[in-house]
Amino acid sequence: MGGGQQYFTRSDRNLLKEFKKAGYTYADSLSKMERLRKLPALGLFAKDGLEHALGSKEPLRLSKMVNHSLKLLEGDAPFFLLVEASQIDWCGHANDIACAMAEMHDLHVSLGHIKAFVEKHPNTVFVMTADHSTGGLTLGANNEYIWRTTLIHGIKKTAAPLARALIAAKTGWEKTWQDNTGIALLNEERNALNSLVEKGQKNDDGVRTELEQTLLKAISRATATGWTTHGHTGEDVLVFATGKYTERFKGNLNNIDIASQLFSVLPQ
Ligand SMILES: [Zn+2]
Repeated sequence: MGGGQQYFTRSDRNLLKEFKKAGYTYADSLSKMERLRKLPALGLFAKDGLEHALGSKEPLRLSKMVNHSLKLLEGDAPFFLLVEASQIDWCGHANDIACAMAEMHDLHVSLGHIKAFVEKHPNTVFVMTADHSTGGLTLGANNEYIWRTTLIHGIKKTAAPLARALIAAKTGWEKTWQDNTGIALLNEERNALNSLVEKGQKNDDGVRTELEQTLLKAISRATATGWTTHGHTGEDVLVFATGKYTERFKGNLNNIDIASQLFSVLPQ
């Protein structure tokens, strides 16, 4: 389950047809997911990636997919379920903290479903980790001993739709900014945004990208969020485990050892 319809119906191959021929039931939108009542099943809910959680009508789409997958898998047959909360990474690349936190919330709700499943089925092990961090995120930046979560909660859009809304509001952009972020701007931020909104009337992609980066810098400054890169970073990541065999996932682990430990608990 996920997005990516366009990668299944390609000019060289129609994988969707091949899946159906192989006996898979198929749903093409999240609202039809409940129609997937038996395995094997395939759900492709967007042409490319799913929408970001922030600003979406389906902010809990990952947790819905997790919950439904667990229902489909519940039973006597052993299974391996891979869940990727992948857009945390996309928001990290963008240095968009409100975007990242909305994705984290969807993951948080997903973990609730998984925890309930593991408690009901104690013969299950759940392992969570990351393949890397993204953006060099700092909570409490610029020498401030604070991270303003209330402000982050008040942000209603990710950078791209926010930039489009500011441009569409023209000279009234500051009200749109207030309505969507609640953040008080510094004078230099106001001037920079004002000039970019003005230039943005010419429908220039470059200006829109600059506007997105400028508004994200204001959000990071106001919330005391720090970033060091738009790429991936190399610090250690956490590994969490619950259920059976958790002792195999303790301490400092080489990433490839996580795979071998998972293989060691799969039924032969
Ligand atoms: Zn990435």
